[in-house]
Amino acid sequence: MRMVKTMAMWLVLLLIVSISGPLSADEGMFPISELGKIGLAKRGIELKPEEIFNADGTSLVDGICRVNGCTGSFVSADGLIITNHHCAFDAIQKGSTAQRDLLTDGFIAAKRGDEIRAPNYTVRITESYTDVSSEVLSVAKPEMTFLERTKALDRRRKELELAAEKDNPGMRAEVAEMFVGKTYVLFLYTYLKDVRLVFAPPVSIGAFGGELDNWEWPRHTGDFSLMRAYTAPDGKSAEYAPENIPYRPKRFLKVQSAGIDEGDTVFLLGYPGRTVRNRTASFVRYEQNVRLPTIVELYSWQIQEMERAGAKDRSVAIKHATRSKSLANVEKRSRGQLIGLKKADTEVQRLAREADLQAFINSRSAELGKYKDVLPSIGAVYEEMTIRGPLELHLRELRTAPRLLSFAFTLVDAATERAKPDVEREAPYMDRNLSQTTQQLLLDVGDWHGPTDQRMLSGMLQRLKRIPEHEEIEPLSRVIKSGDSIDGIAATLVSKSRLGDPAFVQECLKRSITELKATDDPALQWMIDLYPHFLKLREKEKEREGKLNQLYGDLIEVQQLRESSGFLPDANGTLRLTVGKVEAYSPVDAIVKTPITTVDGLLEKTTGVDPFITPTPVLKAIQEKRYGPFAHPRLGKVPVAFLYSTDTTGGNSGSPVINARGELIGVNFDRTFEATINDFAWDRRYSRSIGVDIRFVLWIISEVYGAKSLTEEMLR
Ligand code: ASP
Repeated sequence: MRMVKTMAMWLVLLLIVSISGPLSADEGMFPISELGKIGLAKRGIELKPEEIFNADGTSLVDGICRVNGCTGSFVSADGLIITNHHCAFDAIQKGSTAQRDLLTDGFIAAKRGDEIRAPNYTVRITESYTDVSSEVLSVAKPEMTFLERTKALDRRRKELELAAEKDNPGMRAEVAEMFVGKTYVLFLYTYLKDVRLVFAPPVSIGAFGGELDNWEWPRHTGDFSLMRAYTAPDGKSAEYAPENIPYRPKRFLKVQSAGIDEGDTVFLLGYPGRTVRNRTASFVRYEQNVRLPTIVELYSWQIQEMERAGAKDRSVAIKHATRSKSLANVEKRSRGQLIGLKKADTEVQRLAREADLQAFINSRSAELGKYKDVLPSIGAVYEEMTIRGPLELHLRELRTAPRLLSFAFTLVDAATERAKPDVEREAPYMDRNLSQTTQQLLLDVGDWHGPTDQRMLSGMLQRLKRIPEHEEIEPLSRVIKSGDSIDGIAATLVSKSRLGDPAFVQECLKRSITELKATDDPALQWMIDLYPHFLKLREKEKEREGKLNQLYGDLIEVQQLRESSGFLPDANGTLRLTVGKVEAYSPVDAIVKTPITTVDGLLEKTTGVDPFITPTPVLKAIQEKRYGPFAHPRLGKVPVAFLYSTDTTGGNSGSPVINARGELIGVNFDRTFEATINDFAWDRRYSRSIGVDIRFVLWIISEVYGAKSLTEEMLR
């Protein structure tokens, strides 16, 4: 295996300053390349940088993995992974039926052979990284249009990934953009494709408090689950097969059942997904005025529809569970962000900083003249997005909310893209991704429910009808203007389409675009008519991306000349470290929220009515004070969750919360409502992450549900 580590680029990166200005104290999702520079000891971490990451030996990072969009950690030599309940949720849902309801009842694999396959789950472990900025950027030429620029950079990144995968068979390569338009890093990952569910608590523990408590503190949610990664008998990465054997990680994390207390230092390693701290005031304005409110409206409506449909029939509720939960999570987060952006006056603050930068540029026009239009040009892109936003955001939802249209889009898109050379295809249809894409499609089809889909389609058509620009989309205005009622149109399309049938979809997957055109299915036919409009939108997005890519690159350059403080690249799904303390916070005047909850609070919140139901075995164990060795020494009870001042975002779900000595003492799963704004701006005063205490995890598994062999495996 090739182990590459290029420090040169990181030195370059260090010189760059973020447009969002100097970092707040303790802000930071540090790339692993920064470990030697951030003063681990000063921050209370007792490990040396090379004990955390060492490309040429074993280190803590070998025990951390990415589980789909979440993070997990290996907690045994046999590939046992601890992550969140909400990260394993899809696997739990897919394994559930109304008769065998793993969501409601939970799941314990009594032995290895009972572990359940988690379809379409993958696990990655970061092995190495290398700077490829110059290789990527060398293909961008001044004479290119912005669309050509995006396509060229995209193609180059794919070529580098394919070359790296060829050199490192079985591994996965990804080129990540660190600073937009500036720096690119190739990450190599060990890539495991057989993942199984080992233990899930009932959803009443794993998501105790439901959406009412989501993004809130105090919290009493046992948001954890156990999974296991498998390889072929020869240790190589392989698709699921019964004869596969548990993966042997190079390193696993020591589980420290002694836990933590207030004031202790903790750090997290994980794969934070996306932050937008390095964006301009004009971006914030677009988010605040257009995108976030639209998301809130569209998602809250869809959640209501799914809940209504599921209320009458448990098997329908199970089908909708994953989608409904994930929309609800984003909907509430978006509401939190809208409140937070206003409260923190983020747009105004960024405007002030940008005015200062513009004055600096204007004062040195001879030398900096080339930057004078950077900020207005970025502003113009977001201005256009603001004007086009209502149509574009609703169009995108039209091919997502009604699942039949989503299936039809994937089929048409796949057939179109498959006809192109591999590197020119959209990423989901490249050979390396195609089987996952089609597997996901078939899993989604399995969750299809006609009556809900009819409501979704009708709701989307009603919404689009109110947006005058829908008339630009001929197949859409044709349907809206047809004189038939929208409900009738939706009912006919849904009842006549066969795209809810997995066998038919499987059949369609084999068809070329010409064959699909000849297929007599109304949803497919309508999508074939709509498809050129979706392509136009995709090209428009790429053109904007190309423009912003170049402009943000310039912005970073000039910002670098203006400021000399620290910087960090936005989160982009690559491995980061963040450090903080277990500590209280004050969300509003005169209220201080302390950082540790206990099982007593769980009892106080339990009403017996969803989402505040606590399973009887848990209630009994609390009432009998059967805490085993897991009581908090100072509090005398089992702790449930805790708060800490790290810098996290989505994707850090499932990250290990690690003590100063490198031992696992909890599992990260959320942030406070005030901290939803983290994605735009971090602040020590209100940014708190939330984790489940490992003592609660061990107590639930062993004392409450008696799965002692699992806790023995974890504590070995
Ligand atoms: N619970 C969160 C999520 O699902 C994790 C976070 O964003 O902090 O995205």
